[in-house]
Amino acid sequence: MFYNPALLQRGFKALHNIDWLSALLPPCCTLCREPLMNSAALCGSCWLEIDFATPPFCQSCGLPFEFDLGNQCLQCQHQQPPWTRFSAAVRYTDKSARLITQFKHNQRFTFLPLLAKWLLFASKRLPEPDLIIPMPIHRWRMLNRQFNQAALLAERLAELRGTPELYAPLILQRRGYQKLQRGLNPAERQQNVAGVFHLNPKADSLAGLHVWLVDDVATTGASLHSASKVLIKAGAEVSALVIARVNGAFSKT
Ligand SMILES: [Zn+2]
Ligand SMILES: [Zn+2]
Repeated sequence: MFYNPALLQRGFKALHNIDWLSALLPPCCTLCREPLMNSAALCGSCWLEIDFATPPFCQSCGLPFEFDLGNQCLQCQHQQPPWTRFSAAVRYTDKSARLITQFKHNQRFTFLPLLAKWLLFASKRLPEPDLIIPMPIHRWRMLNRQFNQAALLAERLAELRGTPELYAPLILQRRGYQKLQRGLNPAERQQNVAGVFHLNPKADSLAGLHVWLVDDVATTGASLHSASKVLIKAGAEVSALVIARVNGAFSKT
């Protein structure tokens, strides 16, 4: 069966692009439903509760530091992650988690512009990319959820930068239908995604290219780790770029 996730996604996106209820009602805060005078997504008090990722933090995994401890946390000094750089827009707190969860599981596409702007903000810390690649999801999960949240974010980010041609959703693919990472411990997460990513056999060489690998949330870094290794093996240099990073050290590999 011919399967093109980008075309499929475009179709679903067109169907769901308008949140009809939000379009009909007066603007209100996305999180607390406080009425707003304009169409901003968040009210002032919810904005203040978003914990934007600001230094000091580990340059390699984004782990926040209480004091400026230099470029890397102890774990990254001991074992450098496969990606060269890492950037997250916000810390994974109650407020940011609610935004992302509603976007991802309740199809609240009105949040997409806001989340993509956060990604753009986080991407300013990274060197210019040659490609912007979303973390892929399996085709059956795509049919079930109807969209890949990482792909929507990566595509909008590429548009916001004025470089839509860099969006490359077909290069990295996912084989096998794994359990959702949610609810698994770090070791199970690693095992769940080990070897599941592969390059599209039709993709051109990635030798010498700098790739931004985009995902919504980094919890233990297991998926980013596994996917990065595939891109690096194909010759790319990888920067990992996510909306939110869960607090705590990434799991050791
Ligand atoms: Zn609010
Ligand atoms: Zn680190």
